[in-house]
Amino acid sequence: MSDDPIAQVALPVPFRRCFDYLIPEALRPRARVGARVRVPFGRRGCTGILWNRCAESELPRARLRFIDTLVDEAPLLEAPARKLLAWAAAYYHHPLGEVIAAALPRSLRLGRSPRTAGTAPKTDAETGAADGNTPVLTPAQRAVADQILAAQDRFQVFALHGVTGSGKTEVYMEIAAGLLAEGRQVLVLIPEIGIAPQTLRRFERRLRQPVALYHSTLTDAERARAWWSARRGEASIIVGTRSAVWLPLARPGVIIVDEEHDASYKQQEGFRYSARDVAIARAQQEQTPVVLGSATPSLETLYNIERGRHAHLSLPERATGVPMPALRLVDLRRRPLTGGLSQPVIDAIARRLAAGEQVLVFLNRRGYAPAVLCHGCGRVLDCRRCDAHLTYHRENDQLRCHHCGSQRPLPPRCPGCGATAWVKAGQGTERLVENLKQRFPKALIVRIDRDSTRRRGALAAAIELAHSGRASILVGTQMLSKGHDFPQVTLVCVVDADGALYSADFRAAERLLQLLLQVAGRAGRVRQQGEVMVQTHHPEHPLLQSLLRQDYSAHGAQLLAERRETRLPPYSHLALLRAEAAHMETAQHFLKQARGLLPALPAGVQVHGPLPAPLSRRAGRHRAQLWLQAGRRQPLHQVLAQWLPALEALPAGRRVRWSLDVDPQDTF
Ligand code: ADP
Ligand code: ZN
Repeated sequence: MSDDPIAQVALPVPFRRCFDYLIPEALRPRARVGARVRVPFGRRGCTGILWNRCAESELPRARLRFIDTLVDEAPLLEAPARKLLAWAAAYYHHPLGEVIAAALPRSLRLGRSPRTAGTAPKTDAETGAADGNTPVLTPAQRAVADQILAAQDRFQVFALHGVTGSGKTEVYMEIAAGLLAEGRQVLVLIPEIGIAPQTLRRFERRLRQPVALYHSTLTDAERARAWWSARRGEASIIVGTRSAVWLPLARPGVIIVDEEHDASYKQQEGFRYSARDVAIARAQQEQTPVVLGSATPSLETLYNIERGRHAHLSLPERATGVPMPALRLVDLRRRPLTGGLSQPVIDAIARRLAAGEQVLVFLNRRGYAPAVLCHGCGRVLDCRRCDAHLTYHRENDQLRCHHCGSQRPLPPRCPGCGATAWVKAGQGTERLVENLKQRFPKALIVRIDRDSTRRRGALAAAIELAHSGRASILVGTQMLSKGHDFPQVTLVCVVDADGALYSADFRAAERLLQLLLQVAGRAGRVRQQGEVMVQTHHPEHPLLQSLLRQDYSAHGAQLLAERRETRLPPYSHLALLRAEAAHMETAQHFLKQARGLLPALPAGVQVHGPLPAPLSRRAGRHRAQLWLQAGRRQPLHQVLAQWLPALEALPAGRRVRWSLDVDPQDTF
């Protein structure tokens, strides 16, 4: 073991470097790289990771302070975990200490000691409850599973494009079974906490062993327990959301990224990583296969298939043999609407209910009414702190801003004209439920959105009502679209497809098509062909026309051609420097100075801005951005690596909040 007296410590602070400390003589034989240490820092001290040991520091000895405490005798982070974190810090140009902090449960971060006994993952499985109805894989599923299993022990990205209901989850479970038999661990990433219980249950039934869960709504103690059981190899299968990609594994076997196109894999604040991309980097480091599954692969993935980087596997048909749902557009022009619904849709719902079937009504807008306007002068009520309208929520009779979360009661009179009557305009899920209740008073209607599921246990209860078939109408936002397998849903109604058709975001078309196909995919999965009705004022729109054809690959190819033409990702790479401040001038001033600090740009790297962000004010702060764009990744990253240390030292940076977003997903 090294005898070097200097410890380079990674601390959870916003600086892109480690800090040097002296290791007290007595600790020198024991202080191992990867262990947590407590060090004096600021007023209260800080816990960090001993990242490196060396003989000398750039600082004179006299200025170095001593490590206070060695928290771990054995490294908390072993070499593979450190390698991944170092890669991520370099790739995202983010401070290493903050990267480490994002990858660890809070209690471990704070230096609590590991529990050593009784760490078996908690589970609500009726494990061993033998399950007689494991389906026999179809030949297509078999072929896909075999190809992936043949790649164990080497790195390979498999892009599994399988239509909704094609049995991707069955394939995942088959792969998991194969790797578990080899004594390996399996990490399954899912986009949404809501499907975690369903996925957990399916894996536990099929594999007959407990599955560990890892996501952000667990208590910190639960998270720490799952972390240790993954790290020690006690948990063989772990199902988790984005942050689970950091779980260290004793015997890594495969990483499965379900619904890889989903935007929630990208962390949108602080350390802005993409769990999908980290999973690929990790699989390469650990020499395992990684599976990117989706019914609607991201354009990045389609592009990588085209270039031969990812192996392409496809499941073009439903595993149950049930045909894909019949899709039709309902032209809303000049049609009367009752509570946002047209007569053909109302009739179709009535028919399904009469037949004892289940209906899913999709509206991607929570609350009661997305706008409230004055009946006297037409003035729309806006958030005081954001450039956004307020949404009316009936449940607590409040106006709420969906950007900053602030809320207030309806004002007694209009601040403009003094009138006292308000018009609640448009449809949110609350209002839709109210209308459906009037129309179908005997139906049990369950609403699933972020508001209705806020209470602990509420989501599980709602999903249970949906699964058991007791609820006959499910109303929900995109929370309902992802991955759920509701066997009794035969009709899906999309209340409003128009909202995103003409968005300025270059990813809007891709996202909308993915969302609509995912929602449509909830219909008629198991017993009989389903039906999907999409209400629109723009039935001729090319995106809706290709939705009708349900040919995602063809449309993806077309979208890719457009991106090539406009030189947007994946045909170029972006990095976004964001700044926000109390005044727009302050934010823009910082970005102008930042622009001035850019090193000489290599050919093919361009810079745009500073520009106000599309949502230029949020929570009382003005927001601006500077864009860097490049045809190739390497020169862009070279520029960033030179630029960031200079940015960090910029005095104007202290008056703003700034962050760098590599491969940004959302640009507002
Ligand atoms: P996906 O994950 O692609 O949406 P699932 O794995 O959830 O698809 O499968 C959809 C439905 O088809 C599920 O109800 C599942 O039990 C059923 N299923 C999957 N594979 C088979 C198979 N080989 N034979 C019969 N039913 C199957
Ligand atoms: Zn607001």
